[in-house]
Amino acid sequence: MIRLNNNYSKLQASYLFVEISRRVNAHAENHPEGNLIKLGIGDVTNPLPSSIIRAFHKGVDEQAESDSFKGYGPEQGYAFLREAIAEADYTSRGCRISADDIFVSDGAKCDTGNFQELFADDVTIAVPDPVYPVYVDTNVMAGRTGEAKDGRYEGLIYLEGTQENNFVPSPGDLPESGADLVYLCFPNNPTGATASREQLGEWVDWASDRGSIILFDAAYEAFVINPDIPKSIYEIRGAEKCAVEFRSFSKTAGFTGTRCAYTVVPDSIEIDGVKLRDMWNRRHSTKFNGVSYPVQKAAAAVYAPEGKKETRKLIEGYLENAKIIRKAMKKVGYKTWGGVNSPYIWVKTGEDSWDTFDKLLNEADVVVTPGSGFGRMGEGFIRISAFNSRENVEEAIHRILKALK
Ligand SMILES: *Cc1c(COP(=O)(O)O)cnc(C)c1O
Repeated sequence: MIRLNNNYSKLQASYLFVEISRRVNAHAENHPEGNLIKLGIGDVTNPLPSSIIRAFHKGVDEQAESDSFKGYGPEQGYAFLREAIAEADYTSRGCRISADDIFVSDGAKCDTGNFQELFADDVTIAVPDPVYPVYVDTNVMAGRTGEAKDGRYEGLIYLEGTQENNFVPSPGDLPESGADLVYLCFPNNPTGATASREQLGEWVDWASDRGSIILFDAAYEAFVINPDIPKSIYEIRGAEKCAVEFRSFSKTAGFTGTRCAYTVVPDSIEIDGVKLRDMWNRRHSTKFNGVSYPVQKAAAAVYAPEGKKETRKLIEGYLENAKIIRKAMKKVGYKTWGGVNSPYIWVKTGEDSWDTFDKLLNEADVVVTPGSGFGRMGEGFIRISAFNSRENVEEAIHRILKALK
């Protein structure tokens, strides 16, 4: 008889967003007059900028005419988009990345989740704690862990983000045996932490020496406005030999519902004489048939002068929200991380994460995310998101300050 992949039974139910919506719904039922403001989810709120929508529409119209109609496109993405990405995001910043290293996809969630397929079943894996759950759960599904115990999976190495390391773990936090594969995410979700050139340099040196691979999630790079903070791991020399980078138009340009992202696999990464790029190309073109043409036209418009200006304005608006939130939390006396070069503010309340969540829900009608939902190290913290309108952020802060006084 057929049997199931039993690794799935090891997965802990993702209580976080289920539990949040359960509590939010119960609250809404008891307070139908309420006016809830959500600073909880990691989703953008502003619509797509107008130059990007125009390019999107134009792409749709082209599909209506026989001389411009497009059927299947290249699985890796159209050259016009891959070349725009390589030039604007890499070559112009001194990174040794070419259009052939870029693989366009419909999301960084899928890419960060799928990439582990290229590695052996018994590689050792290090993930941050707190963590974006996709890195963990996809390795559980693939059978690279044991059972879950006290919220952690046996066999995974957890890189602890703490107040002491400002939520930027270093290779020194690994056990002596090291790790074959390390997931890093900067600017970080959920902590908003950014990694300096030196900190990333340590990781690149470590990975090069050991022959390990870094999977670098740069979904929030657009929020980096400080020129001293690297946007890409390829700004560190040598990273093109040991790091894969994931990027997305989701947070950069408001594509969470439109879907477009890309993965960078440099030609120079070779393992056992095999180019990782060739392997990812094989995997990608076998299991994926390309992002829709109009969506790729819309994504390319992000790199046009008008698109650049408009997306920059979106980002600046969210960063201004982040600043308002950060200042208010400081005023309450809480220590915060992130909120600069990042849309997330990580707040130490010193109380149980869910208690703070309930307090803000019940007394301020504001939804935040309990830090403990992202891992053991998140206990005692909440994540506040800057993705909302200025008006809502100001109102939420006003209410939070009143509730916490
Ligand atoms: C939002 C987010 C992504 C982007 O996912 P998409 O599938 O491209 O929308 C990737 N990584 C992290 C950590 C995120 O928060």
